[in-house]
Amino acid sequence: MSDQAAPAPTNFIRQIIDEDLRNGKHKGRVATRFPPEPNGYLHVGHVKSIVLNFGIARDYQGTCNLRFDDTNPHKENLEFVQAIIADVRWLGYDWDDRLFYASDYFAQLYEFAVQLIQKGKAYVDDLNAEQIREYRGTLTAPGRNSPFRERSVAENLDLFARMRAGEFADGEKVLRAKIDMTSPNINMRDPTLYRIRHGVIHHQTGDEWCIYPMYDFTHCISDALEGITHSICTLEFEDHRPLYDWFLDVLATPCHPQQIEFSRLSLAYTVTSKRKLTSLVEDGHVEGWQDPRMPTIAGMRRRGYSPEALREFCRRIGVTKADNLVEMELLEDCVRSDLNIRAPRRMAVLRPLKVVLTNYPDGGEEMLPAANHPQDEAMGSRLIPFSRELYIDVEDFKEEPPKKYKRLVPGGEVRLRNAYVVRCDEVIKDEHGNVIELRCHYDSETLGKNPEGRKVQGVIHWVSAQHSSVAEVRLYDRLFTHPTPDNTKEGKDYREYLNPNSLLTLMECYLEGSLAEARPGEVFQFEREGYFCRDPHPTADQKLVFNRTVTLRDTWAKIENKS
Ligand code: ATP
Ligand code: MG
Repeated sequence: MSDQAAPAPTNFIRQIIDEDLRNGKHKGRVATRFPPEPNGYLHVGHVKSIVLNFGIARDYQGTCNLRFDDTNPHKENLEFVQAIIADVRWLGYDWDDRLFYASDYFAQLYEFAVQLIQKGKAYVDDLNAEQIREYRGTLTAPGRNSPFRERSVAENLDLFARMRAGEFADGEKVLRAKIDMTSPNINMRDPTLYRIRHGVIHHQTGDEWCIYPMYDFTHCISDALEGITHSICTLEFEDHRPLYDWFLDVLATPCHPQQIEFSRLSLAYTVTSKRKLTSLVEDGHVEGWQDPRMPTIAGMRRRGYSPEALREFCRRIGVTKADNLVEMELLEDCVRSDLNIRAPRRMAVLRPLKVVLTNYPDGGEEMLPAANHPQDEAMGSRLIPFSRELYIDVEDFKEEPPKKYKRLVPGGEVRLRNAYVVRCDEVIKDEHGNVIELRCHYDSETLGKNPEGRKVQGVIHWVSAQHSSVAEVRLYDRLFTHPTPDNTKEGKDYREYLNPNSLLTLMECYLEGSLAEARPGEVFQFEREGYFCRDPHPTADQKLVFNRTVTLRDTWAKIENKS
């Protein structure tokens, strides 16, 4: 892994661990976990958590478990489980044989719930969901005790066993912890531990259970059972920490992990909530979870982002408790720096304009050497075919050029990159006056050197028409037009801010012929255009498709000023 060279900078969590190690807490062991719920694909926010948890395990010679927090079977499925496994692996992390499911612990969790009842710390409640909410009170008003709170241990044990046996309907009863209905922390007001769910097939346990444990109860016990030392989570769980500690204290588990919270990653111009991403997928606003515009790991991978770039991004954003909105530019800059080093250069004409070299022999062709990387000789060179008919980009010719235009103009000269200097002699138009072809003269004396006494400033890219590969090229832009689409002054729905121009498809682009052999997912720099990745998803008609990974420079600011 390339980030092994650059050690992760310290942060407040690593400082806590250092201190624990100095004090001999947990006998010098460091064990973390990454605990996704398999109810969607992982997104860039999860990347931060993965890099943090697995990175700490790596740097402290500890372990990091991958654990599915799968207590909500109606929202979860195996597709999500498999996608999460693939995504964490792709990011470069490994959990050996420590892949766990909270559902592995359902039998033990049930026993722990029984223990709580026996200790007089849990009871079966007949209030319905609505009543429970009403009894709970508010941030300013204390809650009230349920009329069923004082049931005897024996009655609670009997009712809980019958809940498990399927004697009651969904919602008819729940098991609750008996803590304090007047606590200023609402999470401590007798939280629900188990609810009844008939008729759902759990992706791991099938129909074995008709009662399911709640997240707060499950999470701390799963951590304790796995011997986690530092249970790292995001800040919204800060108010749940007293409950996390309460369960483990009352149950006196041999291991009592320390919960530590850090701030979530929010990325500008996108959303990182699984619920919202799910709705983008389900309502067809994007092509799916792997749409290259999605901030999902699968989407970013398909877009051409590398694990190295994402890990570098995490290194740069750091870990704190402060709320922060990270600019998309930072992520894109990491992607660009990584690709600048790794991506071989190629020529590709995205908006073709035909050029005929009138003095080049008909049917003639030659192979011209071109470096694969301007700074890295080790990347070698290739031979590119040159012939009488070429394509250049329409933007590289102007009949009426603006000031300082250094590209091709009528009567003017330009250098074709890696090839000759050409002069435009004639402009051919269709009946509507659109330029459809240029007739040019090439100077055979100018391969690799400027013509004597003449200064040719402009260099443009090109491809030989007959040797090129035709491709569809997809240009991606921000998915949203607002930096914080789910938190705007106007308070509108985030979907109101979907960018209608987030995808521009160019149907007929001409690429260097060899690009037809690019591997799925392989990324190149198309010179002067940006970085492009061979789309790994095959189309029905076997079309050659490239996705724009990122532009060469940050063009976003420019676009914003224009609109
Ligand atoms: P969402 O709110 O998008 O549904 P989640 O927290 O419910 O996300 P989980 O599958 O429970 O999703 O998350 C797994 C882990 O990833 C948790 O420890 C969670 O704290 C962390 N995580 C989720 N979103 C972010 C984020 N934006 N930044 C950092 N960590 C995150
Ligand atoms: Mg969660």
